[in-house]
Amino acid sequence: MPFANLLTPSIGLGILKAALTRAGISAKVLNFHLRFAELCGKEAYNTIYHRTCPEHLVGEWIFSDSLFSERNDSFQDYVSGVLSASEADRPDTPIYGKSLLDDLVERIPLVRERVHGFLEGCLEDVRVYKPRIIGFTSMFEQHLASLSLAKLIKSRIPDTFIIFGGSNCEGPMGAETLRQFGFVDVVVSGEGEVVFPEIVRSILASGSIGNIQGIFSRERPFLPVAGQSPQNTVMTRDLDTVPIPDYDDYFEQLRESSIELTREPTLLLETSRGCWWGEKQHCTFCGLNGTTMTYRSKSAQRALDELIYLTDKHPGCKVTVVDNILDMKYFKSFLKVLAERKRDFGLFYEVKSNLRKDQLKLLVEAGVKTIQPGIESFSDNVLRLMRKGVSTLQNIQLLKWCAELNMRVFYNVLWGFPGESAADYDEVTRLIPLISHLRHPVGSGMIRIDRFSPNFNENVRFGFGELLPFPAYYYVYPFKPEAVFNLAYFFEPKCHKPTVERCHVTELSKAIKSWEESYKHSNLFFIEKETTLLIRDTRPIANEPLVILDGDFKPAYLACDEARTPKQILQSAGKNFQQVASEAHLKKLLASLVDRSLMIRQGEQYLALAYRKVV
Ligand code: SF4
Repeated sequence: MPFANLLTPSIGLGILKAALTRAGISAKVLNFHLRFAELCGKEAYNTIYHRTCPEHLVGEWIFSDSLFSERNDSFQDYVSGVLSASEADRPDTPIYGKSLLDDLVERIPLVRERVHGFLEGCLEDVRVYKPRIIGFTSMFEQHLASLSLAKLIKSRIPDTFIIFGGSNCEGPMGAETLRQFGFVDVVVSGEGEVVFPEIVRSILASGSIGNIQGIFSRERPFLPVAGQSPQNTVMTRDLDTVPIPDYDDYFEQLRESSIELTREPTLLLETSRGCWWGEKQHCTFCGLNGTTMTYRSKSAQRALDELIYLTDKHPGCKVTVVDNILDMKYFKSFLKVLAERKRDFGLFYEVKSNLRKDQLKLLVEAGVKTIQPGIESFSDNVLRLMRKGVSTLQNIQLLKWCAELNMRVFYNVLWGFPGESAADYDEVTRLIPLISHLRHPVGSGMIRIDRFSPNFNENVRFGFGELLPFPAYYYVYPFKPEAVFNLAYFFEPKCHKPTVERCHVTELSKAIKSWEESYKHSNLFFIEKETTLLIRDTRPIANEPLVILDGDFKPAYLACDEARTPKQILQSAGKNFQQVASEAHLKKLLASLVDRSLMIRQGEQYLALAYRKVV
């Protein structure tokens, strides 16, 4: 259901369909988000899907009228209460610029006018298949559209059995969905590929589902009591047993639709679940893994077979790996084999940002074109507060190597962690002009508090105090606060206590904005020429457009391609120096490179900022 990405089939539905096929049960995946985009126009659909913040629930609001008759707030209320809001830590900065806000204000009512006809059309399509059971997968802004259609189906075809699952149904969110919406028969909380065929089989056989862990049903309406999280389904330990997703219905319906995509769709591939870093130390802001952090990955052979199967079946499509974090074992197996095959899969992976250069090189050779490292900050103190397990220098060196190796990179910068100091903000603000030649963040700002994150689970300990759902939830659900709390995923502190004075946040935001503006014209790279390094510097802060490093400056600079202490430099590259005779001498030389903004120092470590340009 809307709103989901037009360019990707749903991996959840693809797996569930394949699991049913394996169990000998026929199923059809109906990609009604394509139909909605056709009705509203692709541009309007994509503006809402891609350009609005998830916590503003625009997609949900559009369907809330069709679900609830007792709504009495107006579009104007929603615009002034949600869309016209400003950044929580900068009341003078509206979240949406004027032209985008005007665009949204014009488009949203027009899109909402399409909802009734859309739902009726979906119902007619559903009737064609005469299904006994209908399942909805719901994540992010798909809940209200799914509930609206489920309600319509149940009212017109009452014998249909309705099942909900997906990340919007995990834990209290799923239990509350069952509690509030009487037309939903079953909610699955947790992984579905094993239990879904079981549920379907037993409903087809006996009309009943019995007692299955992680399933909330009218037969066994176990709902969580306050402060208790209900159990999830039993997680799949061996991911090689998960069927390969079946995307055929998506591609068939896309071909039949009038939507013209600007490029081939992207296939979603899953090679692991959970997070190995989160098992050791859960990043405080992260709710991505729900309650199942346990890391599991597919065998290299299975990952390879699946990748080849899917890309052969759907030629021309790039592949996004949906994992939250790359399995480090793959550097010795899966990625190595991919590199040997020399086939361009155009892969995307999320990675931890402490990768070594040889690992990044292998990713490039393996056909990984884009990565999303968990950078999140350029302040060691803030990284420590969020338990990220990486340092500022590791983050910068990874961005530098991405520039050198032509790896596309996306990441965010976050702030708003209790315990931050003004000095942390100022440090990052000062650092940014030095790294303006490296890829800037795609997003930056105050952290949200997501359900399942440590910041949510231990809100008081982490200094946030009482939490409330984001205001948009109250415009979407006409329920009592406790019910809205259970349904929500995005939260904010009841009292916004600024961690530092506003001027420090404003300066940091300005520095990031200038970085975005100057990035295209900013460069800092070197070419090695005999006994010298020629450094080209076009950063706005550049003192000299061309710097020549010779003598001992050259080996010192090259040795700091990776962050190093003077002691480490002497150990690894001492033989390359002619004059440097001691650590003290080397420190002086490094300090002069820092003074010239060609290198940075954090603690005892130095990192060269220019990357090697291959000519
Ligand atoms: S943010 Fe990334 S690394 Fe941290 S716990 Fe979440 S998935 Fe794991």
